[in-house]
Amino acid sequence: MSVKARQKMETLDTIIVGAGAAGIAAGCRLLENNVNNIIVLEAKNRIGGRIYSYEVDGSFLDIGGQWCHGQENNIVYLLSKELDILSLSINCYDDYKMYSPTLSLDKKLIDDMLEIAFNIERDKNGLISSSGSFGEYFINRFNSEIKQKFGHDEQKLVIAKLFCDWYHKYTACLNACPTWFDLSAKGSACYETCKGDYYLHFRNKGCQTILDVLMKKIPNPADKLLLEDKIHLNKSVASINWNNANGVLVHCLDGSSYKAKCVLVTASLGVLKKMHTKLFVPELPPYKVRVINELGFGTVNKIFLKFPVRWWSDDPKGISIIWTDEDKKFISKKNGKKWLEDIFGFYPIDSHCNILLVWIVGEEAASVEHFSDDDILQGLMSILQYYMGNKYNIPNPTVLLRSRWFSDSQSFGSYSYRTNASEDLKLFGSDLAKPLCVNNKPVLLFAGEATSDCHYSTIHGAINSGFREAERIIDFYKDTERKSKL
Ligand SMILES: Cc1cc2nc3c(=O)[nH]c(=O)nc-3n(C[C@H](O)[C@H](O)[C@H](O)COP(=O)(O)OP(=O)(O)OC[C@H]3O[C@@H](n4cnc5c(N)ncnc54)[C@H](O)[C@@H]3O)c2cc1C
Repeated sequence: MSVKARQKMETLDTIIVGAGAAGIAAGCRLLENNVNNIIVLEAKNRIGGRIYSYEVDGSFLDIGGQWCHGQENNIVYLLSKELDILSLSINCYDDYKMYSPTLSLDKKLIDDMLEIAFNIERDKNGLISSSGSFGEYFINRFNSEIKQKFGHDEQKLVIAKLFCDWYHKYTACLNACPTWFDLSAKGSACYETCKGDYYLHFRNKGCQTILDVLMKKIPNPADKLLLEDKIHLNKSVASINWNNANGVLVHCLDGSSYKAKCVLVTASLGVLKKMHTKLFVPELPPYKVRVINELGFGTVNKIFLKFPVRWWSDDPKGISIIWTDEDKKFISKKNGKKWLEDIFGFYPIDSHCNILLVWIVGEEAASVEHFSDDDILQGLMSILQYYMGNKYNIPNPTVLLRSRWFSDSQSFGSYSYRTNASEDLKLFGSDLAKPLCVNNKPVLLFAGEATSDCHYSTIHGAINSGFREAERIIDFYKDTERKSKL
């Protein structure tokens, strides 16, 4: 850019990088406080980021964020509760029937094991006093409680071991960690579960509704905040030149440039991990780089299968599958595909009665993104036929839709988790959130789910982080204005 062009460039109050939940929340809070000279630069051709409600035959499928997890102290719930847009989800992971074609699984026995598992997770003091991984901690406690309850009943101990494998996958799903040995026990205890109903879904248009709520398009579109006018889509930020006394310069891949008093970065931790050396000029200080490197960011993916009819009975709320060695051998002989073992169930969804949702989690979640739809379909159908084929006549699905969060270059994964290393080094989301200052002014700020210490990996964590940083900007500029008038 020529010197002349740079001189001409308007200095905006704030540039927000990313129009996901955090970026939208921040933009709305700024506008509500009359900080109007802002823009939001979004690399994709849509807003929402990891909230992506995709329409299939009139129903919205949430490819990313889906549920409002809890009510108390949950900003998603607090913003939505008067608007009559949330309903209890049919999903409820503590009430699934588990299946194995080679093993008889008594519901009461599985419920007892689930209760033991949930109690171990709820015991925050136990987790906090542990120094190792969640996996080690869980296995030790689970085994000792199972032995206490069931003594030496060989059959029950075998089932407990298989249940433990299922719980491992369930944990990998909730935390997006490759294995539960990558997840810190102590770190996981920092996650604060919001009390109340834990699986609430947005009726009608899916999770994207929360973005409309933030922008006040609901309940009365006439009262909407004018944020959309400030959002520039297809603007991939390539570099942020932040260490200048007279403003932060942002350059986009399409050659456009912008200048502002401060820049709020809301890109995912996955993007920061991959891009921070190129994105920030000069490079970020070492402590920031350490947090980016050591906090965890992993992948879970969703696969939706739409069937011509709802072939499963209404009785099971979902089909959780238990893998015995025999089951594994059968499926791998038929397919030779290890990734199938990372599937832990098939679950109905709220928005469409003929669709089953399959989660693919753990170490294979990212690698399956490269497989063809045909390969995926064939593999999933072989599991369904093997596990449920003797009970139901299962037709072939008519639609397969799946996420690819790892290959998505504006996300590079699904959500953040706390690793053993981040816990050992005492690196937290709040370290990622610390703004970088030039001449005591916060010029480079960070929001997004991973910057939250206790609500990371969620939509409410992302929204709170956007509000937090908008307020930091508002407070700073109010203070500067007040001082300049003295
Ligand atoms: C499969 C899945 C299921 C989930 N389920 C739930 C759930 O049920 N409940 C729940 O609470 N949470 C859930 N989450 C997590 C939740 O969706 C996220 O925590 C939240 O949406 C993150 O919002 P964010 O604003 O922090 O980040 P993002 O949504 O990632 O927003 C960042 C934005 O920045 C943009 N961007 C990135 N790089 C650039 C660049 N260089 N230039 C310009 N723009 C850029 C991106 O395109 C994106 O729009 C789920 C996530 C996934 C992936």
